[in-house]
Amino acid sequence: MARGAVYFAGMAKTQLRDLIRSRLRQRKLDEAFEDDLISDLIAEKHYYCSVHSLRPSQFRMTYRPGGGYDFYGNFDPKGWHKVSWAQCLAPRNQNDWIESALRLASAPFLAARRHAFPVCERCGLLASTEVDHVSPEFQEIAREAMLQMSASEFHEAFGGFDWWSEEPFTLPADNSALLYTLHAHQSVTLQAVCKDCHLRNAADRKARKKVST
Ligand SMILES: [Zn+2]
Repeated sequence: MARGAVYFAGMAKTQLRDLIRSRLRQRKLDEAFEDDLISDLIAEKHYYCSVHSLRPSQFRMTYRPGGGYDFYGNFDPKGWHKVSWAQCLAPRNQNDWIESALRLASAPFLAARRHAFPVCERCGLLASTEVDHVSPEFQEIAREAMLQMSASEFHEAFGGFDWWSEEPFTLPADNSALLYTLHAHQSVTLQAVCKDCHLRNAADRKARKKVST
């Protein structure tokens, strides 16, 4: 039990991660190679590939400036596309996509606030360059929004997502998390601020939280 529940191919996540890492260590950068275990893992567990029945036939690692590597799969007949085997082991990445879509959906509310307050609402001196979610914080809205989503909505969100498109990931118009986020922004307290005041707001919040706990 200490090593975790069986996740895939009879292995727990930690075992699987260690095995894949050790296999990849034997590969050279830019070399195309086949690995059925990783192909199956991506076909079954990747947030996008699992929904679209995509199974990469080959892989390639390329040098990433700053460390590590970028990992590509060959998806016949479309060709190479960046794909993360590690994301198959950490499903919270699906939530990251949804959170980015919710952020995008809230952007017009933030733009309107900045437009209404071109000067920082906190210091009254500098131009407002960003908008702070004073209350509730964006993370809280996003967390609550995602709780509204059913399993079928998760499925649908990624089913309609064109991986090959350059367009940002968005949610269907009737998605519960999206509707919740849009509704929340009708009553959320926003503040148009300069960069420094945004940081000051965040620091104040942190200090308040410390006091209240
Ligand atoms: Zn300011």
